[in-house]
This record gives sequence, C-alpha cells and structure tokens, in this order.
Amino acid sequence: TKNTCIITGASSGLGLAAAKALAETGEWHVIMACRDFLKAERAARSVGIPKENYTVIHCDLASFDSVRAFVDNFRRTGRQLDVLVCNAAVYFPTDKEPKFSAEGFELSVATNHMGHFLLARLLLEDIEKAEDSLRRMIIVGSITGNSNTVAGNVPPKANLGDLRGLAGGLNGVNSSSMIDGGEFDGAKAYKDSKVCNMLTMQEFHKRYHEKTGVTFSSLYPGCIAETGLFRNHVQLFRTLFPPFQKYITKGYVSEEEAGKRLAQVVSDPKLSKSGVYWSWNKESNSFENELSEEASNPEKARRLWEISEKLCGLA
Ligand code: NDP
Repeated sequence: TKNTCIITGASSGLGLAAAKALAETGEWHVIMACRDFLKAERAARSVGIPKENYTVIHCDLASFDSVRAFVDNFRRTGRQLDVLVCNAAVYFPTDKEPKFSAEGFELSVATNHMGHFLLARLLLEDIEKAEDSLRRMIIVGSITGNSNTVAGNVPPKANLGDLRGLAGGLNGVNSSSMIDGGEFDGAKAYKDSKVCNMLTMQEFHKRYHEKTGVTFSSLYPGCIAETGLFRNHVQLFRTLFPPFQKYITKGYVSEEEAGKRLAQVVSDPKLSKSGVYWSWNKESNSFENELSEEASNPEKARRLWEISEKLCGLA
C-alpha cells in the first residue's frame, strides 16, 4: 500500500507542486486539504495527478469547526497518516483594514498559524502510529519572517513583541488585530504568522520528538514569485517581482523545483533529522539553515504554544 501525506492548500502553488512530485513517485497517496473542493479537483487533474494517487477533503483553516470536521473525515477514510504538511497561507499586503476568521481572529494569523496549530495538534496522535522511518510533520516557513536575512529585513519586519495582541484574542475589538498589539499591517501580519509557524515547529520538536519519534521540520523553499500568494498585491508588484527575484536577488525558484524540495522534506531519508529549518543553496542542495533570534527564541515558542492552545480550545 501507498504512504499517506496530507498537504493543506494543495490547490495551487507550492502545495500543488509538492502533491504532484509525491504522487509521481507512485509511493504516495496525497490528501489535498483544501477550502475549495472543485478548484482542488481541477488543479489535481490539470497537473496530471492520477486519480488513485489523491483525495480531496474539504478543510477551511480559517474555521476551527472545519478543521475538526476535516480530521474526522480523514479518519473515516481508514488510512494510516504518515506525514502532515502545513502549507496553506494567505497574504494581504495591501489591505488597510483587517479581515477576520470564523472565530474572529485576524485572518492571516488565523489561517497560517492557528488553523494549522489546531490541525497539527489533533493529527499528532495519528502520525505517532505510523512507521518509524516515515512519520513526519512539516510546517512551511519563510525567509520573510526571518530577520537575520536581507529579505527578512525589508520593512515592515516581523515582530511578535510580548504577544499581547494574540493573548487578548487578536480580534480588533478588545485587543489589537496584531500579535504584538500594534496597528494593523497586512504584510507584517503575514510575516508574524510565518514566525509563528517556525516557532511552532520547534516547540513540537522539543515536546514530542523524543516521546513520539516523529520528525518535525520547517523549510524555506526559495522565492516562488509566481504563486497565488501574491494575488492580492498591486499589479506593478506582480509584474516586477518575478524578474527581480530571478536576476537581482537570485532567490527565484520555479514552482516545480520548490515542489520537489518540499517533497524531499516529506520523504527523503537524508532529511529525516528533527527540529531542522531546511533551505537550499544555488546548486539546489539542501542544508540546515539558521533561524533569526526571534524565530528561535524558546521562551517565545513556549508562550506562543500556550496562548494558541487556549485560543483553539485545547487547554
Ligand atoms: P498559493 O497562494 O499559491 O497557495 C496557498 C494555498 O493555501 C492555496 O491552495 C489556498 O487555497 C490555500 N488556502 C488559503 N487559505 C486557506 C484556508 N482558509 N483554508 C485552506 N486552504 C487555504 O501560495 P504559495 O504556494 O506561494 O504558498 C504556499 C506556502 O509557501 C505558504 O505557507 C507560504 O507562506 C510559503 N512560502 C511561499 C513563498 C513564495 O515565494 N511564494 C516563499 C516562502 C514561503 P485556494 O486555492 O482556495 O485559495
């Protein structure tokens, strides 16, 4: 039988490319956890994933009820889960006002961090039962949340502060809609959410790697300048960003190559070390990258975990 991997947001960009790369090996069945069922079905067909190699199951990360329903529906398939990839994300760089999730949390942190936090917590017990050599949990990170890099220093910089906005409920009513308690800034909210992703991976590693044997990792696949992530950006940006990344920063990577990188983190025996933030050099070789001070701060990781648990109704 095939191994099973869940990928959130597999209806476009990196998630779709990784689903394709895994399905092509013939060894993996990919569960596409997507908010738009029809779009996901069409996407899988358009890139030629054979129908016996994937299943679309509805999951809207911006709703805790939907995340819980997804977990139930996945369990009903009777499949043994081997790998979970938390990949979906939204980015609202030009919004002047925040939008909110079903539970009333600022939408980019709700989708990118909180929905994934709940999903990952619920599915850990499923992954624990998988074979030693397979079980992994991956949370896609980003260089933009990482202030020890050039890209991570483009303002507005990520900064979670003392997490007062998050602790207050991130609802823009009796708390700020930003994690650090500041004024809403869509680009910063995205970067903050990616720092949360990287901190979450490390806290999982610390709490559960020894106990469960599961490998926890994060990655920066390179700048995939043409994905849907930039759909909400101004047109001039969307025109200039891909060539800028190709010729100036040289961080550009095609969707296909990025998908192969994520597929490596899922299944390559060489990338089985836990607690690692993977990146790739110019020759496309993987290496263990370093995280910024904030994205590797153990005290912040612990606080973020505890507050997120409360907000998701787990504690
Ligand atoms: P895309 O916009 O192409 O893909 C994002 C996916 O997330 C889409 O499938 C989208 O679904 C899905 N999604 C959004 N909101 C929800 C939700 N509420 N519930 C379920 N699914 C949702 O972007 P990318 O492929 O670029 O992004 C994938 C990951 O890569 C993200 O984590 C991003 O932060 C990361 N990344 C991207 C980089 C880049 O340069 N592009 C660089 C570094 C990291 P739908 O199709 O329905 O909109």
